[in-house]
Amino acid sequence: MSKPSSPKMPTRRRLLKTVGAGALASFLPASVIATEKKDSPHRASGKTVAISSGNGMGATALAVKLMLEQKLRPVSAAVQGVGLVEKDPNDLSVGLGGLPDENGRVTLDSACMDGPTHNAGSVGCIQDILHPAQVAERVMDCTDHINLVGPGAKNFALEQGFKETELLTERTRKIWQKWLANRTEDDRLWPLGDVNPADPILQGEARPWGTIHCSALAPDGSLGCCTTTSGLAFKIPGRIGDSPLIGCGLYCDNEIGSAGATGRGEAAILSGGSWLVVERMRAGDTPTQACLYALRRVTEQAERGARWQPALWKDGRPGFGLTFYAVRKDGLYGSATMLGKPGTQHFAVADEQGSRKETCSILHPTG
Ligand code: ASP
Repeated sequence: MSKPSSPKMPTRRRLLKTVGAGALASFLPASVIATEKKDSPHRASGKTVAISSGNGMGATALAVKLMLEQKLRPVSAAVQGVGLVEKDPNDLSVGLGGLPDENGRVTLDSACMDGPTHNAGSVGCIQDILHPAQVAERVMDCTDHINLVGPGAKNFALEQGFKETELLTERTRKIWQKWLANRTEDDRLWPLGDVNPADPILQGEARPWGTIHCSALAPDGSLGCCTTTSGLAFKIPGRIGDSPLIGCGLYCDNEIGSAGATGRGEAAILSGGSWLVVERMRAGDTPTQACLYALRRVTEQAERGARWQPALWKDGRPGFGLTFYAVRKDGLYGSATMLGKPGTQHFAVADEQGSRKETCSILHPTG
């Protein structure tokens, strides 16, 4: 049998041929090309590394510790790592203290993926369970299914011995009540509008997203990842985002690397973003280049999407945030984000030298 050839990914030249130079230039600022050229890849100090969104300093440190000291597989190390954020009531985007849906109910999305077995598990829209990532891991390990949602996911968790926990805190109840008092009729159509929440942390911010993704590489070269979130604040009940969807909010291929996303989940879904990042690494990109590539694809799609929802496109660029994180099997890692002031967006990384924050590349730098 002949060896399967590696997939042909569109190079910049091929893309130019397809869409035309003018179209490409309209969403690719010169500053980005320059950033990419001088991008020096981030490399782990040893063979072990975990990266995550900026809220994961503790999570990445714990994941690396567990891989080194307890020889935990990377997916389990990532699941345990993000557990620190799931139980932190001060993180308004994940687990306990996550912002609720329109009806004031906290519903969580989570998934994990194991490189060596190429298996995955996920729970979507699960209520009253503190550690949805651990439930996703049980779905992966104890069933032949991948996605469980809603009451079915909760029943499965209870069956597995997880306990019911109230996830709405006093603080998030107040923010939700303030949102309720200010909501507008077309709120469902304009999910990018300001919410004007009562909480000073969120004041003036666009409708907040938040999540933690963690990708991990173990000393034996195996990979795993996990993404967990309370999703879009004040979402329509029943909405799931990208986080529990394999290939969207996370993806890993043990031969290549691991990736994940935080930010506007709908954009990560429509682009198959995390899968795309891994496939770009397969084609030879560094993790940062692969993340930037996926963001360019999302940019193109947002420009088209703006025909039905103008809020998706603002000042000649996407009107929403999205960040990708990636680790390659050889220990290179990186992250890129859609928008921001240069130097202000960070991701967390831990390796054998300890944990630190590093700067994300930005596709569309703002002033
Ligand atoms: N991606 C998550 C979602 O859309 C939220 C986030 O990362 O902020 O549900």
